[in-house]
Order: sequence, then C-alpha cells, then structure tokens
Amino acid sequence: MTSSLMNTYGRQSVAFTHGQGVWMWDQNGKRYLDGLSGIAVNTLGHAHPYLTKVIGEQASRLMHTSNLYRISEQENLADKLTSISGMDNVFFCNSGCEANEAAIKLARLYGHQRGNENPAIVVMENAFHGRTLATLSATGNRKVQAGFEPLVAGFVRVPFDDIESVRQVAAHNRNVVAVLVEPIQGEGGINIGAIEYLRALREICDKNEWLLMLDEVQCGIGRTGQWFAYQHAEFKPDVVTLAKGLGGGVPIGACLASGAAAQTFKPGNHGSTFGGNSLASAAALAVLDTVERDGLRANAEKIGTRIRGGLAAALKDTSGITEIRGRGLMIGVQLDRPAGDLVGMSLEAGLLLNVTADNVIRLLPALVMNEAEADELVGILARLIREFLERKAAPGTAAA
Ligand SMILES: *Cc1c(COP(=O)(O)O)cnc(C)c1O
Repeated sequence: MTSSLMNTYGRQSVAFTHGQGVWMWDQNGKRYLDGLSGIAVNTLGHAHPYLTKVIGEQASRLMHTSNLYRISEQENLADKLTSISGMDNVFFCNSGCEANEAAIKLARLYGHQRGNENPAIVVMENAFHGRTLATLSATGNRKVQAGFEPLVAGFVRVPFDDIESVRQVAAHNRNVVAVLVEPIQGEGGINIGAIEYLRALREICDKNEWLLMLDEVQCGIGRTGQWFAYQHAEFKPDVVTLAKGLGGGVPIGACLASGAAAQTFKPGNHGSTFGGNSLASAAALAVLDTVERDGLRANAEKIGTRIRGGLAAALKDTSGITEIRGRGLMIGVQLDRPAGDLVGMSLEAGLLLNVTADNVIRLLPALVMNEAEADELVGILARLIREFLERKAAPGTAAA
C-alpha cells in the first residue's frame, strides 16, 4: 500500500471508483451495497443527480469568496436550517470537530460574559466529539486521548443516560455553564439517550442557566426520522452541532444557537476561512431540499424499522446477539464478543459496514435506501453474523 500517507488509519485495501445510490464499485468492478454512507455522510447516496447538478452549476459560477463578504448561498442555508430546527442562528465551519469547537468556545464565552472565569462543561462517558485538542478532551474514550496529554481543562465527565449524576454535578459544581451530549451516541455504540433523560437535561439546564448543547454531527439531518434527534423529545436545545450528513459528501459543519447562546459571539470571537462557502452551502441546501421534497425522513424511519425488524426475525434463534437497536437509519447490532472481523467478512461479501465500541455492528445507510435494498442488506448481514458467531467462540468458552 502507498506509504506517502501519514499512518493515521488502518485502512481496508479496497479502493472505490464510483457509486450510484446505495451501490459502489471497486477498481476490479466488484459491486458493494453501502450500509455505511461514508460514516453517515452521503445522505442522498452516491451520484445523486440533483446534488451533482447543483454542485456543478455552483462550481462553474462561484465557489469561494471568504466570510469577509456576504454569501447568499450561506444566508439561504442558514434560513433553511433555522426554519427546520427552530434555532435562531448559525455559524458555519467544515467538520464535526470544528462545529463542537465552536460550541465549546461559545459556552466558555457565555460563562465569562456572566462573570465565570473558570467555566466547565458537563460531558459524557463513551461520547465522541472529534479529534482536535478540545474535542478529544471532551470525548469519553481514553484511546482517543492517550498520548495527547495535557488535555484541555474544563470538562466534567458523567455516565451517559444517567440523570442523577448530572443532578449531583448541579448540586456541587458552581462553575458549570453547559452540557454537551449526543442524543444518540454514534462512535460509542449507537447508545440511545432516553427521551425522558433528554427532557430532564433540558430542565436541569433551564434551572441552572446552563446551555444544553447537542452534538448531532452523526444523528442529525433526517437520519433518525426527524430532522434532528432532539425533535423526538419535542424541546429546543441552546446549541446544536452538525456536519457529516449536512453536505451529502461536501465538507461542511454548522453550530446552531438559540436564545442567549445566539447572542454570545461578536465579530472577532470566532471564524473560519472556508466555513459556509458558496459551494458547500449550495450543496447542503440541495441536500436539505431533497430530504424534504422526497420525503426522506419518513423513508429513514420506514427503512430503519424494516432493517431492525428484518434482522431481529432472521436472527431470532441465533445466540450471541446482545441487542438490535437504533432509531431510523442509525442502527447498532451488539454482539456478546468483539466483532471487528465482521468488517472484512462483509467487505468480502460485498457489504460495507463498520464495527464500533468493539462489539457493535453499525449501519448508517443513505436515506434514499429502498425496501428491496434494505431486504438485501438484511439477508447478507444476517448470514454473515451467523457465520461469524459459529466461527468465533463466545468470550469465556473454548475456541471452536
Ligand atoms: C464524526 C463525529 C464528530 C467529528 O466529526 P469530524 O467531521 O470527523 O471532525 C463529532 N461528533 C460526533 C457525534 C461524530 O459522530
């Protein structure tokens, strides 16, 4: 394999040449069913005709001018995002970690503006917020942090989906200004925060004048069946961060704010050269328009339910499955043993998926997946899981 790349990824040796919808082809012409969408990025699948047309037209007109000038595509995208989210305003950047950096800076500034010189943010165990220094410090995974100490200070960690521990922090820590949480943890293993938990977080934040900041970098943009996962809980957060699926493959991130949080930044506090340029904004707007026009939120809900139900039925007599869970097209199949080998097995079988948190098979298909494609995915995956479980001994038993 090529050695001119810095050694940051343990890659599969396959390289793809093109795609169409939920299908991809490699250099040898082999076809794959894409159950991962470039990690929840390709919302509309590959080579979507409207998205590619908008990108082409925008690129041929104007791609980038910088945020020193007004950018009409960016303003239109911000209008669209605030209208579907109920939030007040938006800062644009280029990735998920940058969106979270913006949120973290916003929370600190919010604290300083209220006379708190040492503001702290409550974060969760098993959280993933990115790889920059502040976001890896906020991340609840030692593997992400190890070797990069000293970590950025100002984070207080508690267990996820455990409201009592947040109440304890509220009772004892006067420096807290915000909570940063994924409504559904992605990298952490598709762990779903209960609706009552999220609502209780909203209440605690209201009572203490903390900002409730939701990292929807993975679960946002229609994937769970609503535009945003918090909409299942029917409340409004103070800050929401987005990236992955927003541009449908074109890099763009966003930090949305409402209420007092929306009034925090002033010119000079934060910025990004590329953030929300004409090309990325036009692409994101095309993604959102298409999700809306083609009913893809409802489709995500329908196809997600079909995949989870199909897998549950196909695997009901198979032992070794701990849980099949998810919301919409954010799906995790947890096994009772490390499942990393399934990535290579499924690649071989022509299915793209990923394994996270050691034993959770993660599916993040494009929102355009249809029923026949979902059934094909279920058929391949159920067979692979059975094969894998027969081949790989359960923990604590002798090898087969
Ligand atoms: C992927 C991810 C990030 C980081 O996004 P990058 O674009 O890789 O920086 C942050 N938060 C969540 C929840 C993610 O899934």
